[in-house]
Amino acid sequence: MASQTGAIVQQSLNALMGDSTFLPNLQEQAREQAFLSLAAILSTPNKVHKAFLRITIDNGNVVRIPAYRIQHNDTLGPYKGGIRFHESVSEDEVTNLAALMTLKNALHEVPFGGGKGGVVINPRTYSAKELYLICKKYVQYFSDVLGPDKDIPAPDMGTGEREMDWMMAEYKSIHPGQPYLGSFTGKSVINGGSLGRREATGKGVYFAFRYMLHDFLKEQRSWLAGSTNPFVQTALAHADRPLSIAVQGFGNVGSVAALEAYKCTYLHNKVVAVSDRNVTLYNPDGLSVPALLEYAALHQGDLPATEAALVALDIKAQILGREEVLYLDVDVLILAALEEQIHKDNVERVKAPIIVEGANAPVTGEADVVLTAKGTIIIPDILANAGGVIVSYFEWLQGRETQFFSEDQVYKMLYDKMQKTLNSILPAYFGDPLPLRQNCYNHAVMKLSTMLYRQGKLY
Ligand code: NAD
Repeated sequence: MASQTGAIVQQSLNALMGDSTFLPNLQEQAREQAFLSLAAILSTPNKVHKAFLRITIDNGNVVRIPAYRIQHNDTLGPYKGGIRFHESVSEDEVTNLAALMTLKNALHEVPFGGGKGGVVINPRTYSAKELYLICKKYVQYFSDVLGPDKDIPAPDMGTGEREMDWMMAEYKSIHPGQPYLGSFTGKSVINGGSLGRREATGKGVYFAFRYMLHDFLKEQRSWLAGSTNPFVQTALAHADRPLSIAVQGFGNVGSVAALEAYKCTYLHNKVVAVSDRNVTLYNPDGLSVPALLEYAALHQGDLPATEAALVALDIKAQILGREEVLYLDVDVLILAALEEQIHKDNVERVKAPIIVEGANAPVTGEADVVLTAKGTIIIPDILANAGGVIVSYFEWLQGRETQFFSEDQVYKMLYDKMQKTLNSILPAYFGDPLPLRQNCYNHAVMKLSTMLYRQGKLY
């Protein structure tokens, strides 16, 4: 587990160990041993699967592509987590992402464990046929460890519905006569996917921010008013006034979160910047997110990156370097691209007082400490970006029953689930000055620890 995740899990365990009301039957030496066991279990993955996929690429050459499936923990249910296609994929990265899935599912009470997959490629440099072969081979190599009741992958960066459809079809061929709809989530609707799955993560990211800064605060204002907690002060300073929002990443998560923010006019939002792998587009008067979405849909997901393209779209925006989105003077920064975007070398340049983690681990541990000391509210990944796995769970349920929910039902169930989690976390967060990430980890670790103890796994 990467040091940041591991360190926060350990802090949660330390807090639980010192809390005599938690597992009170465990006393003295038995308590110490049990917490050492918990640290050992939660800090390491159950299984690491690695393969070199053998693919014949279009020019006839045979290549070997490194691929991973890492199964971190299945205390709560079958392993669950996306498959990432990106050139920076490594065993450490996938292991950390798998651990985050374990915590995320525990936090939101989704009955799945944590897993993650990765393939070390830049998908943009492969043809559709080559990507199809990579997907097929991935399932062939890992077919023994995947399945609706074992380990259920989903899309992540560089993969989407198309890849999940291909993978599910291969799983079905390898396991004839067995249930297969629940083997992969994030499939196209026509292939048994759930309505609303594609939008779920971005919608959930925006919902987490909106619920916390608006609905929750409105209800709680009377007891929060005199609070000296720095996070309460930041929150209250941004309630009920026009907010400027910048979004890093304009893919599945970022573009949907940006559209939700754009559409949510009652909060007087203005999406002033969006960015992708090439550029940042900035206009302090606001950007037309729908027009940018239309453009991206026709250009492999990319934003317009030239003056000519912006003029053709009738969009007024400054074209800045892709990192500039991080340093703009905005109220809210939604991070929805990659890991480790804010780190010790650039954290001092970040001005946004509210940061929402749509991506996994976009703020490093060192940067987190600096921002937290400034009173910056960071809505962490395991809280904010769980919409994808929550609706994946609904997709898995629908696949088992072959009964399908309407889009409205899916969103209502998604928001209900996220609201329940937020309501269980926010009072503690606003009540004492512990960072929101630590609060969320405490909650998740408490759930996992209790289950491990009751299952007799600590002896
Ligand atoms: P995506 O591939 O659809 O989009 C990624 C976006 O980031 C693109 O706009 C791309 O241009 C941009 N980008 C790539 N490299 C960049 C760079 N160096 N600087 C700035 N921008 C860059 O991916 P996604 O599915 O939207 O996932 C984004 C993040 O959210 C990932 O960290 C992923 O793990 C996390 N996440 C995704 C889901 C999901 O359901 N898709 C769920 C939970 C978490």
